[in-house]
Amino acid sequence: MLKLEDTYLHKGKRKALVRLLREKGIQSERVLDAIYQLPRHFFFDSALVSHAYEDKAFPIGEGQTISQPYTVAFQTELLEIKPGDKVLEIGTGSGYQGTILHILGAEVYTIEYQKKLYEGTKRFLKRLGIEMNLFYGDGSQGLQEYAPYDKILVTAGAPVVPNALIKQLKPGGILVIPVGDRSTQKMLKLTKKTNTQVIKEEFDSFAFVPLLGKDGWK
Ligand code: SAM
Repeated sequence: MLKLEDTYLHKGKRKALVRLLREKGIQSERVLDAIYQLPRHFFFDSALVSHAYEDKAFPIGEGQTISQPYTVAFQTELLEIKPGDKVLEIGTGSGYQGTILHILGAEVYTIEYQKKLYEGTKRFLKRLGIEMNLFYGDGSQGLQEYAPYDKILVTAGAPVVPNALIKQLKPGGILVIPVGDRSTQKMLKLTKKTNTQVIKEEFDSFAFVPLLGKDGWK
């Protein structure tokens, strides 16, 4: 079992990572501080732990990845998280992104499609003492049972914006989702102004693992 030890060396590497993210354009000090606070190496397999503070995605098993820190920071910044926001994350993966949202004061609901990842991450977050609502299932349909949400974050590349996600947002809510083909996607921010008006903003391209399920890739 991985030793959960956070040393000065790790903190120094996180400081350098935060500096790099700032240089790459991340502006929210709250987001940067959450990334500084959270030991990313805790979320790594012991064989890869020395790479934890590189600005890269890494395998977490089941053919999935922990997202690149820049991507985590970019998506989190777009979400404009306020303490108390009820946030649905689609694609729990390692639990790193969900924990960043938790540090920012969100009430986090997160859903994962790969059962082994769901079970492993649930055990791990319990060990870390992080309170989060974890679910196993197809997040391309959102999580109707606990809707509506202030914010929804999709951490896998979708072929389309699933209707269910727009429906499950509160008026004034924000959906951040990468949409495109299987290899690259444009980051979209959809703001649901009212039940009938949604404003769409488009950002840079990213490369996510595919969103699977009913409104995902087959
Ligand atoms: N947020 C994660 C983290 O912090 O480690 C990284 C997510 S990884 C890039 C994308 C995740 O989305 C994978 O764990 C994958 O299994 C999951 N996924 C893909 N399709 C899904 C679906 N329909 N519902 C829920 N999760 C899904």
